[in-house]
Amino acid sequence: MVQRDTGSTRRALIRATAASFAAGLFLRLSRVLAADRMTKEQAEYQPTPNGIYSCGQCTMFVAPSSCKVVEGEISTDGWCKAFVLAD
Ligand code: SF4
Repeated sequence: MVQRDTGSTRRALIRATAASFAAGLFLRLSRVLAADRMTKEQAEYQPTPNGIYSCGQCTMFVAPSSCKVVEGEISTDGWCKAFVLAD
């Protein structure tokens, strides 16, 4: 009779999955850091507000039309997933 060590197989699978996730995250972060700022696609930028929130209220907005973390021309009426509400 052959016994399987399912515990170590499961642990190996979890380790491989965690390592794969970490590698993917590292690649994405290194691309962002290399580019200094995110592209609009990476930030999921949209030229319209997200409900009541818009770039004009975000601490990352730099008047008149740019952003500290997203490259390109930014509208005060835009929004992205890096939005940080000003105090
Ligand atoms: S929501 Fe903030 S972080 Fe995003 S593009 Fe507008 S100013 Fe930049």
